[in-house]
Amino acid sequence: MKRSDIFEFFRRLAEANPSPTTELESENPFQLLVAVVLSAQATDVSVNIACRPLFAGIKAPRQMLEFGEDALRDAIKTIGLFNTKAKNVIALSQALIDNHGSEVPRTREELQALPGVGRKTANVVLNTAFGEETFAVDTHVFRVCNRTGLAPGKTVDDVEATLEKIVPAPFRRDAHHWLILHGRYTCKARLPECWRCPVIDLCRYKPKTTPPGERIKPARTKPSAARSGGRASSTARTAKGRTASRPTAGRSRARPNRLP
Ligand code: SF4
Repeated sequence: MKRSDIFEFFRRLAEANPSPTTELESENPFQLLVAVVLSAQATDVSVNIACRPLFAGIKAPRQMLEFGEDALRDAIKTIGLFNTKAKNVIALSQALIDNHGSEVPRTREELQALPGVGRKTANVVLNTAFGEETFAVDTHVFRVCNRTGLAPGKTVDDVEATLEKIVPAPFRRDAHHWLILHGRYTCKARLPECWRCPVIDLCRYKPKTTPPGERIKPARTKPSAARSGGRASSTARTAKGRTASRPTAGRSRARPNRLP
């Protein structure tokens, strides 16, 4: 994608959602770290449901240790891999107390040394809790970057390295939030909603999808299905999604609308 198109790509996502942030709910860096660890291979919605009651009483590593692994396992049992995650959260709480004065560290190396914390989790915490210009590549970001041609790569590390190089300065802080939200609500995995996409003319994905009502149904392959009143399969499905726009309170920064 050309440099001017990359700028325009992010300018439009920024225009639609000027202050994006994570959908994981937390009140401080410790809760955010725990929520991100729990969100591996789970939806933000499921993590929020489990964490709301948990975080009402647990706001620091010491409280998590007092709560204990068994109780934590029970509290997060609706989330995938809850056994391993409970172990990791207890271990990382202990490590924060032992090595970091109960604070969440601010460097990638220190974060990735914590149990259950990989590069993506470190990137999310550095970006969301501490305002670093990092690019957490999850399944949505990976898909959007490859589909659109924005930052193609065979691995998440390739995509992250490319994003590091190409994202223009005004958009670096929030780029990964825009890409996640765009992938989650518009450029969906099974059926991208190109007809309402703000970057449709910049994206190389083909063929673009059309609104559900305008899709041509495939020909019936079994005449008997028609006689018996059976339904032919169709690629059309209801695809009502939330818009890419998800206003969040708190931050508002002016961005230029053209290349510097
Ligand atoms: S045009 Fe379609 S494939 Fe391209 S970014 Fe938009 S939703 Fe995704």
